[in-house]
Amino acid sequence: MKKILKVVVGLITLTVALALVGCGGEKQSKNELLVGTEPAFAPFEFQAENSQEFTGFDIDLIKALGKEMGYEKTTIQSMGFDALIPALEAKNIDVAIAGITITEERAQKIIFSQPYYRSGLAVVVNQENDSIRGVEDLKGKKIAVQIGTTGAMMAETIEGAEIKTFNSNGEACLELKNKAVDAVIGDLPVESYFLQQQGNNYAKIVGETLSSENYGIAIAKNNPDLAKKLNQALETLKENGEYNKIYAKWFGSI
Ligand code: GLN
Repeated sequence: MKKILKVVVGLITLTVALALVGCGGEKQSKNELLVGTEPAFAPFEFQAENSQEFTGFDIDLIKALGKEMGYEKTTIQSMGFDALIPALEAKNIDVAIAGITITEERAQKIIFSQPYYRSGLAVVVNQENDSIRGVEDLKGKKIAVQIGTTGAMMAETIEGAEIKTFNSNGEACLELKNKAVDAVIGDLPVESYFLQQQGNNYAKIVGETLSSENYGIAIAKNNPDLAKKLNQALETLKENGEYNKIYAKWFGSI
């Protein structure tokens, strides 16, 4: 009898222990939203001066979305832009936010949220350059771009262009500053912010905006539930004014 009791108590203990472990695991995955980004893309994601913290429009937005979805914590992980989709596929992160343009090609690998920001591409040249007035003048020119971006894809369509790829837009602009290239093609809001912050003394934007693009948040293909929740949360933030508040903080008037 005693022996049976011992076995029963043992089994109960084991069950409770397993349940606790189970809860622990679930709790962690439910309460922490793991976000991947490439934090060299101001004003969307960047490291504030003298700080380890990431900041920017995307960072504020994903934190607000995480909260709205009921996550206790939103953890931001830094990685290269071209590493974001593989990290989602490997389940190392739950979502990626990095000014990612919604494209058909990318949408085959991941799920995009509803668009959250309208963007486009711009051509940046040195101040004293009077011969390049827009994309039509870039044939056969040297162009710096950020690897894996829509700017890089656009540059590849230009006849005879010599393309140099860099890990960040900042490095591409430095190449322009050093006069090692004739132009940079990159996202208009990022190039405008860069000029406004530091680039104005040597660079300028020329010509028309090259494309109309929408940014979306990326979610792994096998996680449609999260995509649905994210879209609902985005909708709520657009309705309750929170999205507009974040937008106004980074871009001024709406
Ligand atoms: N919007 C561009 C793209 O998706 C660039 C994004 C980025 O460099 N973070 O390709």
